[in-house]
Amino acid sequence: MTETQLIAEPIKYEPYFNPDRHEYIDKSPWKKNFRGIRKEHKCPCKSYVFSSTLQFNQHIKCRVHKKWLMNYEKEIKEINGQEKELRIENEKLKKQIKKCEIELNNCHLLIKLLQEKVQNQEQQKLESEQDKFYDTSETNEID
Ligand SMILES: [Zn+2]
Repeated sequence: MTETQLIAEPIKYEPYFNPDRHEYIDKSPWKKNFRGIRKEHKCPCKSYVFSSTLQFNQHIKCRVHKKWLMNYEKEIKEINGQEKELRIENEKLKKQIKKCEIELNNCHLLIKLLQEKVQNQEQQKLESEQDKFYDTSETNEID
């Protein structure tokens, strides 16, 4: 056995969902006549580690585990609810970002337009000053 196998994390035990009865029930991770290596499993109820059906059968009888199993469905539902809320929140934020991006783009466009306007005005001012100069000179000539 290599070192990595020795320090490998136990597999997280999860109860089995019975679709007929709509509830979670305890089910051994191994089939009755399983002959392979029984990998360590860790039950989240009190971090109990087991690696045999006997240990498993004994563990699921304890009060802490029974209570944990009873609350398991509730917890799953809560987690799913939180995930759903987070997803909705996430979508909202994405929409806000999109809106801000559009506004930012509009601002860039406005800045560009205003810059062009200012440039045009400056150009016109310069031209009108030049015109004035020519005007006077022309009038002078005519006079
Ligand atoms: Zn347990």
